Amino acid sequence: MRKPVIAGNWKMYKTVSESVETALALKPLVANANHCDVVIAPVFTSLKTVCDRLEGSNIKVAAQDCSTEVKEGAHTGEVAAFMIRDVGASHVIIGHSERRQYYAETDAHVNKKVQAALQSGLIAIMCVGETLEQREAGLAQDIVSGQLIGGLAGLTPVDLDRIIVAYEPVWAIGTGRTATPEQAQEMHAFIRRVFADRHSQAAANALRILYGGSVKPDNIAGLMAQGDIDGALVGGASLQAESFAQIVNYRA
Ligand code: PEP
Repeated sequence: MRKPVIAGNWKMYKTVSESVETALALKPLVANANHCDVVIAPVFTSLKTVCDRLEGSNIKVAAQDCSTEVKEGAHTGEVAAFMIRDVGASHVIIGHSERRQYYAETDAHVNKKVQAALQSGLIAIMCVGETLEQREAGLAQDIVSGQLIGGLAGLTPVDLDRIIVAYEPVWAIGTGRTATPEQAQEMHAFIRRVFADRHSQAAANALRILYGGSVKPDNIAGLMAQGDIDGALVGGASLQAESFAQIVNYRA
């Protein structure tokens, strides 16, 4: 049985006090959510305070990125995975399409970040997904399998249970346009097959694959009803505690 994960990506929103306010508002709303792992990803500046304020709760905290560099050093502006672990976070989002699009992240960068995250004891939520042009050109599966294979190159079987894959079609992120449950299911099943071919059927069966792209309280149940959808990575609708809690509590 794969335990679902509902993760909120707060992107570059919220000051420290706003982050704490949202996190504390969320806490009682998801306190009984034992059916899934609940994760929120504030900006770096809020990470430690949010981790401290959520200590002992069932909400886990993620960073939105980490450095390709494993060790500390002269890398201005970077934050190493072990530093993220040090403040109490357990997860890190890697290879989000906004980073690929606006900061020229390649699969090679993503792979180094995944390796750094795992070496530091973090769980990596690695994002993959095609653009609209790629989908319309019939390239969606090629793009996604390339990102998957490139991003996860060189991992050992032991590493695999600390990997979560998020399928986020770029055309559905922040656009209000969601993939249909069937479109998402088709790609999730494909990702699981690629993973089985690269690694093992057992590892593929255990892999949690999240869907991301305009997930809202009113479409989460349809997505979660699909056999290969194991949760969601939520952007806009995670910024308010109430709407994120409704997504977390989709079964209620
Ligand atoms: C995201 O940022 O990962 C995301 C899926 O955003 P949204 O839910 O706003 O489309």
